Amino acid sequence: MEGSQVIYDFVSSAIESGGWMKTDRAYLQNKLTDMTGVVVSSNNVNQVSNMTAEELCQILVDMAKDNKANEYQTEEDIDQLKQSIMELLTPPPSVVNAMFAKKFDRSPLEATNYLYWLNQINGYLSGGKETSYGIEFDAPMHGKCPLCFENEGTYEPGSAFLKKTRRFIRLNLNNDSWGYQLSPLEKDKEVGLFFPEEHTTLFMTNLLIDQMVQLVDLYTHYEIHYSQFNYFYGHSFLVGKRVNKDRQILCEYTLPFFRESKFAYDMEQANDVVIQTNRPQDIWLMINYIFSLTVSHKRGLYTMDFDYYLSKTETDYQMIVSIHDNASNKSKDNWLFTLELLKNELEVRY
Ligand SMILES: [Zn+2]
Repeated sequence: MEGSQVIYDFVSSAIESGGWMKTDRAYLQNKLTDMTGVVVSSNNVNQVSNMTAEELCQILVDMAKDNKANEYQTEEDIDQLKQSIMELLTPPPSVVNAMFAKKFDRSPLEATNYLYWLNQINGYLSGGKETSYGIEFDAPMHGKCPLCFENEGTYEPGSAFLKKTRRFIRLNLNNDSWGYQLSPLEKDKEVGLFFPEEHTTLFMTNLLIDQMVQLVDLYTHYEIHYSQFNYFYGHSFLVGKRVNKDRQILCEYTLPFFRESKFAYDMEQANDVVIQTNRPQDIWLMINYIFSLTVSHKRGLYTMDFDYYLSKTETDYQMIVSIHDNASNKSKDNWLFTLELLKNELEVRY
């Protein structure tokens, strides 16, 4: 494939991705020529090939290595070049945010689909591994926080998060500024990360549940997950995954004092408890009620030993409280004991 054609096709993708206008074509071509040493001749280009932007980028990088062997020697030089090329497919943050907001007004699903599409074509989603804790940071740590706002578009060698193509969405929860981006560790799955702008560690509190409720109100197609293990350098994040309807169960019990809310538990399998309510202010109270059952037996539970998954059903909010695999055996014992006590409380069938 000829260099001119590759550049033409790549620029077409860049214009399609929304960051540029047709009038920017010559400018973008010249920019790519600068970077890669590939000269554009005007006679043979107009047919767009079926190659993806990523494939086109790879061809340009290979051509650049030949044309500018002195400039691109190390792996890092090449990685930087690749990201600079892919960044041309990525509108500036303000434009991404404006486009996201416009789509969000029509449908949150459409907006997140847009962000996923953009992150896929610009190569931000490069893949990685997921552990039972959630997402593992597989890149070398350089002291730069992968979530902090100030690092948007920063290049860090080897980092899955800190790339020139990183873009995130600004949102407001309880007058706190938050960010939302996709996890680059998932290549073929849309996994959202929600994080406060302030570099801070989140604890399970009433305020956090409020913020999770706001998130599922906005992103009704996400289940929002809190775990104390989800943080980088002490900067916590919540994980948003597409709601799995199989996890939304029919709760049939009630708890004393919370007769308007429904409740379920599962002693056979995961030892989870499930709270379903249309009164979000009750979620925190119900969790406290459950956790305080063992107090008179002097067998305490730590809220941080648990994972919390909030989603919205057609009528209610559903919170799954699940003891973490990594909790101590003592905590696990206390939790089983709590479930026994709970069983006695739940004699009222819904
Ligand atoms: Zn941070």
